[in-house]
Amino acid sequence: MTDRAAARPVVALAGGVGASRFLRGLVRVVAPANVSTVVNTGDDREFYGVHVAPDLDIVTYALAGAVDSARGYGLAGDTFALIEYLEQAGHDTWFRLGDRDFAHCLDRTLQLRAGAGLGQCADQLRRRLGVATEILPMTEDPAPTLVAMQDGRVLHFEEYLVRERAPDGVASVDLRAASGAAPFPAALEAIAGAQTLLVCPSNPVVSIGPILAVPGVRDAIAANPNPVVAISPIIGGKPVKGPADRLLRAIGSEVSARGVAKLYRGLVQGMVIDRVDADQVSEIEALGIRCRAVDTLMRTPEIAAQVAKTALDLVASLR
Ligand code: GDP
Ligand code: CA
Repeated sequence: MTDRAAARPVVALAGGVGASRFLRGLVRVVAPANVSTVVNTGDDREFYGVHVAPDLDIVTYALAGAVDSARGYGLAGDTFALIEYLEQAGHDTWFRLGDRDFAHCLDRTLQLRAGAGLGQCADQLRRRLGVATEILPMTEDPAPTLVAMQDGRVLHFEEYLVRERAPDGVASVDLRAASGAAPFPAALEAIAGAQTLLVCPSNPVVSIGPILAVPGVRDAIAANPNPVVAISPIIGGKPVKGPADRLLRAIGSEVSARGVAKLYRGLVQGMVIDRVDADQVSEIEALGIRCRAVDTLMRTPEIAAQVAKTALDLVASLR
């Protein structure tokens, strides 16, 4: 067993950017210390000798108010001396990493080598950045998401997203590593003890998919009698950012709020979708999912707070 503190009332399953935007709003309507996040680690990979954990880090940086909002990743005001040096020295530098960002990754790598777990590393980093919200990896095992292309290539998710710039032609998404990984015990405990479970507006295939693939996660959610509410990452038939459309199509799912609702059927009892998709409310409710349509394009933390409040009101109405 872990020595974690008492269960946090609100637990959110999180990917990266979409989750971060939502979580910044959530901690405006719920005390940050009352929130716990279970974060995708399917994107983790070693770059330049260090363990990079894109989703854990962006969630941490966003909750610390430190994310570079112009670039959408990394730390505001970071410098890029290290990556520029590596580039000049002839290394392949398609994955950009700022200097302070790199320092966090190096610190994590040294701790992992000294025997620490990924959970402990994530906890130390968030505390150092003054984040009261608990940040838990879905697993401490390597669980890389692989993207199989129609041309036969098999890419690590970051190769697909960053190096190849998320092209069409995805044949399938391979979550077998997550399916074979040991769940992080504190993540399962957080889910079991939650009074409210939220699924962030994250990529359903490659952010939420890997979390749900980890053994025990779906069962822990199903065993929790409290309501589960998801926020759609698809607005008006398109993702706000990123390749969710290409990946949803690859798994045979419609690129719409309704398509996401069908994927989450049986898992969630409520869903917040965008106002532009209000015509899908009755169809989603016919799936047994209570649905609310509001503005979900989170341009500011204030709008994100409104989205979070809608999700929590929906939870309350489902009790
Ligand atoms: P990633 O790991 O950085 O790809 O991040 P996530 O999986 O957490 O988020 C990606 C998803 O977030 C995409 O499918 C976007 O459509 C969605 N997203 C980003 N910003 C917003 C927003 O303001 N509103 C909603 N509803 N979804 C968003
Ligand atoms: Ca991600």
